[in-house]
Amino acid sequence: MREGSLDAPTRHIIDWNNPEFYDEQKLDDELRRVFDICHGCRRCFNLCDSFPRLFDLIDASETEELDSVASEDFKPVVDACTLCDMCFMTKCPYVPPHEFNLDFPHLMLRYRAVEKKNGKDKFVSRELSKTDRNGKLAAPVAPLANWATKTSNGMTRGIMEATLGIDKNAALPKYQSKTLVARAKESPLEINKDAPAYGRKAVIYATCFGNYNNPATGEATRKVFAKNGIETEVVYPGCCGMPQMEQGDLAGVVENAKKVSAELSSWIDKGYDVIALVSSCALMLKFEWPLLAPDDATIEKLSKATFDVAEYVMEFAKKEGMAEGMQPIGDSMAMHLACHARAQNMGAKGAEVLRLIPEAKITVVERCSGHGGSWGIMKGNYKTALKVGKPAARTALKSNAKYIASECPLAAEHLMQGIETLETEGTDGKTALHPIELLAKSYGL
Ligand code: SF4
Ligand code: SF4
Repeated sequence: MREGSLDAPTRHIIDWNNPEFYDEQKLDDELRRVFDICHGCRRCFNLCDSFPRLFDLIDASETEELDSVASEDFKPVVDACTLCDMCFMTKCPYVPPHEFNLDFPHLMLRYRAVEKKNGKDKFVSRELSKTDRNGKLAAPVAPLANWATKTSNGMTRGIMEATLGIDKNAALPKYQSKTLVARAKESPLEINKDAPAYGRKAVIYATCFGNYNNPATGEATRKVFAKNGIETEVVYPGCCGMPQMEQGDLAGVVENAKKVSAELSSWIDKGYDVIALVSSCALMLKFEWPLLAPDDATIEKLSKATFDVAEYVMEFAKKEGMAEGMQPIGDSMAMHLACHARAQNMGAKGAEVLRLIPEAKITVVERCSGHGGSWGIMKGNYKTALKVGKPAARTALKSNAKYIASECPLAAEHLMQGIETLETEGTDGKTALHPIELLAKSYGL
């Protein structure tokens, strides 16, 4: 629930095909209108680094009002936005249907789309956003790629920092030689016909991260679903486009959306529910794609049939019930509510899933991890990312939890890095996992 408003927030379509969307004067007018409202409000002062940058800018100006701030100085405010959506979803009382009609993250997105159109997007960020190409290139040489990118490799990471601007201390995702799709094909699972949810069918959208970097979440999902009588298929038609969206490449997002939705739609027609393994990707399928392509019936159909993993577990847990066999895990768990899970407006489903585990000891971590996709690994941003994530890392550390769970795999790893900066003993004995992996552990799978 947002502060100060009982109305559910609504969002307007992103009018990226309209030439006015890219009109720099109109964009500047809108930035000034919104920034002035934020200056008078300041509720979001501690959500991220965008708002402190904006307020410092205004406070240091000649009149201490927005009128004496130059528009060129707005860029650092935009650059610090990770599109986490927390200001829109949890704080702002002025989002539509309020007459102020304020959507801060989508305004930051528009700024980036204008930068992209004017060729001002950054080469390295653009290349990092090509997750499919990078995954295909890295998979055959995964051990070498992982050796070169690990933080302890001072030589290669030093070169990467100097040439690519990727902070040498930022943990980077590891690559796997075998994708999740290939693993699923090789290992069919037996479906538990006695489970209450037997008869359900789900197609798992692997997501680029789940397919190339972290198949463990998808494997745990398949096992938990099979135990619960749910037949699964794993597919990966392409990336959801979140990395392109961060770069303001809206045409690129829609191109991906059309390709992915065409394939997933055929599964919906065969009676399958769609499960996205990563919260950011679920958010794209459910909410951002329909705003970017509002006339596309296939995208609309997919948005209605898509579930986040934890959301789907609670769907069948509540409607049919869980299969028997869960055992206490024993060790305590810190459950981080990822921003893009919260932005789906579905409740704290990750925490609900962990509460299904007998005798579960859970500490809920509500603050942003600070990661923000490819943004947080860049040299100019990494320290800010750790600073933004410090309250969340501190809560996780204080909880003494063995397991740091998050529906966002990048956030979980980033929290582990945040804990390392707070604690001399580092993250010894702690493990970052998706809640579905803890559910699989409880089942002994
Ligand atoms: S979307 Fe997130 S990062 Fe961007 S301004 Fe809002 S709270 Fe800050
Ligand atoms: S986004 Fe909304 S809640 Fe946040 S500072 Fe601006 S006006 Fe206030």
